[in-house]
Amino acid sequence: MGLHQVLDLFRLDGRVAIVSGASRGLGKAMAIGLAEAGADIVALSTHLPNLRSTITAVRSLGRTILPLRCDVTVPSQIEGVVQETLAHLGKVDILVNNAGIIRRAPAQQYSRSDWEEVLATNLTAVFRFCQAVGKHMIERRQGKIINIASVLSFSGGIRVPAYATSKGGVAQLTKALANEWGQYHIQVNAIAPGYFKTDNTVEIRRDKKRSAEISARIPAGRWGEPDDLKGAVVFLASSASDYINGHILVVDGGWMAR
Ligand code: NDP
Repeated sequence: MGLHQVLDLFRLDGRVAIVSGASRGLGKAMAIGLAEAGADIVALSTHLPNLRSTITAVRSLGRTILPLRCDVTVPSQIEGVVQETLAHLGKVDILVNNAGIIRRAPAQQYSRSDWEEVLATNLTAVFRFCQAVGKHMIERRQGKIINIASVLSFSGGIRVPAYATSKGGVAQLTKALANEWGQYHIQVNAIAPGYFKTDNTVEIRRDKKRSAEISARIPAGRWGEPDDLKGAVVFLASSASDYINGHILVVDGGWMAR
């Protein structure tokens, strides 16, 4: 296989990708990365105006973007996204389940509402979205699902019991779906980001002691930037990863290796 052929495996021209939580942080960077590789994007946020800069970036690449309002904890809104996508773009090739929240408190004081909201957003909604899009992908006998897990799919974290539980669940769900849907040529994989500079980590980056502890454990010597995920998401969305299924791809500057 010549060089031009292997690079062609990574191209996403003509593919349609749904990205939840595409308004900022990791989801925005991944949506732009997928568009840079040629995909058209269905960008989701709970508030349409939040998608303004993502829309501008994707359009400037010459790709189509369909911005849709979707609170992933509301099942009818997930179904609505699938219907709107099929009506406007005809198919779904790629689903990136990125929307997620974090709530911090000591385990003994952790509120029931924080527990329920984190599990609903980070885990139950991921399953519902996979189900809704999976049915369509099974009919087409092809598809790429990329769930955003975390290094806390493996480690327990501190003061984030619901988050660690939800992300452990995302990793297991990814493997469970890969086992069932591999036969339909659908690959279900996850990306486990390490510590990235987004709104999700503002609080621990402000905590000088905790922030220094984390930095000291990152062999790369720096926190991740959202653009650091572009390569991983394009790889898992493309034909280059057709024989990779149920894998959790850690992108953490080496944090897990410590
Ligand atoms: P941000 O807080 O920067 O962004 C979160 C995104 O999720 C926003 O686009 C937000 O959209 C969306 N979102 C939140 N709740 C909902 C909801 N109910 N319905 C729909 N969308 C929602 O976080 P990150 O970019 O850091 O995180 C993205 C993903 O990556 C999450 O799953 C997170 O757990 C994971 N992750 C992050 C790491 C990090 O270091 N930052 C490390 C490991 C994993 P809007 O507000 O516009 O509706």
